[in-house]
Amino acid sequence: MSIDSLYRQIIMDHYKDPRNKGLKNDENYRTINLVNPSCGDDVTVQLLIENGMIKDVRHTGTGCSICCSSASVMSEELKGENVDVALEKIDAFNLLLTGKDFNDEILKGEALAYMGVSKFPARIRCANLAWHAAKEGVLKEKEENNG
Ligand code: ZN
Repeated sequence: MSIDSLYRQIIMDHYKDPRNKGLKNDENYRTINLVNPSCGDDVTVQLLIENGMIKDVRHTGTGCSICCSSASVMSEELKGENVDVALEKIDAFNLLLTGKDFNDEILKGEALAYMGVSKFPARIRCANLAWHAAKEGVLKEKEENNG
């Protein structure tokens, strides 16, 4: 199997069977909604952060397969992670999407399936929408806790 078809399989698997999907009705979760008007993607991410750790990640939304599957991969990558490591992962994912060198000690596994997106600039926003939402949530949390 070529690496491209392996990557496509990972993306379709997360699209058809998204992990951690569905929001919690719990005020301890921080909720961030982002939209990508050019594609019609609409993603909501919820983070449960305690003592500098991301205890839980939830997501929901509608959009293309790249966007929805990426939200699912993001939820698995960031769940259980320290907030600073999570921010490094998010930055590494952005570099990967734009075809730049990224820290492959930090970012590995299924997130690498989106490497090919760098060839389709219009889809980069699709792939990083949920990750961007997570970043916003983590930064707000840090801001409030330090301030
Ligand atoms: Zn999209």
